[in-house]
Amino acid sequence: MPAWRGKQIYSALHQQRIQAWSEAAYLPAGLLRSLEEEWPAPALGLSRSFTSADGTVRYLLRLADGAEIEAVYLPIEEFEAGGQKSVSRHTFCISSQVGCAAGCRFCFTAQLGLERNLSAGEIVAQVYELLRRHGVCPGTGGDRLNLVYMGMGEPLLNYTAVMESVRRLTDAGGLALPPRRITLSTAGIVEKIRRLGGESPRPRLAISLHASTDELRARLMPLHRGQGGMRALLDAAREFPLAPRESLTFEYVLLRGLNDDLGEARRLARLLSGLRAKINLIPWNGGNGLPFAPPAMRRVQAFQACLTAAGLPAWIRHPRGQDIFAACGQLARAGVARQLPPFPHSAGTPAGLEMRDAL
Ligand code: SAH
Repeated sequence: MPAWRGKQIYSALHQQRIQAWSEAAYLPAGLLRSLEEEWPAPALGLSRSFTSADGTVRYLLRLADGAEIEAVYLPIEEFEAGGQKSVSRHTFCISSQVGCAAGCRFCFTAQLGLERNLSAGEIVAQVYELLRRHGVCPGTGGDRLNLVYMGMGEPLLNYTAVMESVRRLTDAGGLALPPRRITLSTAGIVEKIRRLGGESPRPRLAISLHASTDELRARLMPLHRGQGGMRALLDAAREFPLAPRESLTFEYVLLRGLNDDLGEARRLARLLSGLRAKINLIPWNGGNGLPFAPPAMRRVQAFQACLTAAGLPAWIRHPRGQDIFAACGQLARAGVARQLPPFPHSAGTPAGLEMRDAL
């Protein structure tokens, strides 16, 4: 076929964003038939969706093989003059794997284990699905869309497909999303962070830190072990080539009694000094089944104040969608019968101490 046919098909998929080949009726019937037979359009099925009072919509999406993943739509509400509510900024949170192998102790997705990697097409299809469902039209003069790889899975452990999805989503012949609007969040795969630094297009980088010492980080995040510790991780962060106005993000999930004290905040400030970075403080988004508790709000505020006083911009990310169990992996896990391993509990100890011992 002539090359322009290829362009036509590409634009049907990535500009028109068809769900079925029949929507590209301008293609010759014979071609449509063979496309349908050999390349069935990668439609995602909707298993369930939950709308939160705060506007967050959480989707459980079904892939062709029946596996399920989560994707979340987060509107950012803005008010026009006169108090009329309008939504012009949107964040999509998408998954990179079915389940996850990282094993972070406080995370619900970790409980699922890793089922499989997503393909680049399955990652991109989540974005197109949310665009369609919420009527979002990004682009010049259109809606502002931010995309975060913060759903199920560890994106840097599905590196090839994730980077291919970034290339497709930023491609000028498709959605043409600016790379600076995409953030990839990692539990910290040092070698892959270094590789990511050399990519073009490259998303922004967020690193889930969650502790200021090797000892605590390794207990909370098993994949911390064997990678050269905090030193290697922060060296990779320090050497990550940033664009002029770009900064790194560190995520820090606050767990009551474990990593929410001021000693931890001070150590964190020392560790990150000199880095062009901001810190997102995330009070643990809880639920049944995991032996952690969210921190008291005044602790979160004191933690933030300590970081800001040390010159580190720190923001408190208030949990959203709590009424719809929107913590990472919570929804997918709800349908899983697998029992959690029992956790030792001792009566009479303050919750934090108990958790520290249990870890
Ligand atoms: N695997 C990637 C992206 C997934 S999760 C990563 O680890 O960065 C995105 C963020 O949510 C991570 O910082 C993760 O540690 C955090 N997270 C996981 N479970 C959470 C929970 N129950 N409450 C609050 N944050 C959570």
